Amino acid sequence: MIISQLIEVLEEWAPRWTAWDRDNVGLLVGDPHRRVSRILVALEVTPKVVDEAITRKVELIITHHPLLFRPLMHVTSTDPIGAMVLTLAENRIALYAAHTNLDVAKNGVSFLLAEKLGLHNVRFLKPLEQSLAKIVVFVPEVYVESLRTAMARAGAGVIGEYSYCSFATRGEGSFFGSSASDPSVGKKGKLEVVPEVRLEMVAPRARLSHIVTVMKDVHPYEEVAYDVVNIETPSSNYGMGAIGEFPKPMPMKKFLKHVKKVLRTQYLRCSTINGVSVHRVAVCGGAGSELLQDAARAKADVFLTGDVGYHKYHNVPNSLVLIDAGHWETEQFIVHGIVHHLQKVLSQTGSAVKVLVSTAQRNAVTYE
Ligand SMILES: [Zn+2]
Repeated sequence: MIISQLIEVLEEWAPRWTAWDRDNVGLLVGDPHRRVSRILVALEVTPKVVDEAITRKVELIITHHPLLFRPLMHVTSTDPIGAMVLTLAENRIALYAAHTNLDVAKNGVSFLLAEKLGLHNVRFLKPLEQSLAKIVVFVPEVYVESLRTAMARAGAGVIGEYSYCSFATRGEGSFFGSSASDPSVGKKGKLEVVPEVRLEMVAPRARLSHIVTVMKDVHPYEEVAYDVVNIETPSSNYGMGAIGEFPKPMPMKKFLKHVKKVLRTQYLRCSTINGVSVHRVAVCGGAGSELLQDAARAKADVFLTGDVGYHKYHNVPNSLVLIDAGHWETEQFIVHGIVHHLQKVLSQTGSAVKVLVSTAQRNAVTYE
């Protein structure tokens, strides 16, 4: 399988357009046309992970954290990041990162954390806002089906678990072509009235230009009449953090013990513990403390995340307990998540590509 095909598989799950503007995701090192037979998955690239990739003869490393984040002014062996890029390039090992796009994906970083904790009814804590638009296009009736299909394939019409979502209303369109026009229906220099359909489909704002280009290619008219309207409806497909419930409330002490066991950690930094039992839990893998108020609004008993600054603990509502379990600890499951996702898709296609979990990756933080 070639790298660009694998990227398509990953980005169907975690599209690049959902990543934050300032993030740096996608293929960071390597040739997208290169064929791969072995892939290594790690949370991040370190010199040890690079050595492991060479020893285990992989052609591609997939990580959550991007190795390249700030502009790299030189790629030399004297700079720690440059040295890793250089070694990867010398050994023809490609590097791909899915970062904030994997944070906001269904079954991404936070969903996996919630599921590992045993939560039920897992959903987004904060659906992605201001990410959607609606395209309204006027098309002769016989072309509706092909236009809907082309737009859906380009990324329009996805609502939750449903694709090809559209709404169509019949009506009449009229036009008068000038002497320079070349109408595909009717004649120029004559007022035409044609049965048309008003076709409406929702679309990710970041994919708009692509969808509109495809729509114009398929549409039979020389001049396509269409509207693009930004809509405020939050996306049900992508969001930050996750929230869910235990089938029955768990005593607080038991819950804290449970979290430590699942995350394989001895330490949790908790705000004042008021509640006696835990039913609803909000989580955000990695640094998610900005979602604290969203967790409170969602009536979570606990908000579990990583990298919480001291002062944040002063502003915790009485209704919940804020827990910092560490960045690595709350993100660790995504490595196996990526492996499982790829293995599932690859086995369906009969591909023999091997996907390996890194054994050299380590939590950069140690506890004494
Ligand atoms: Zn992270």
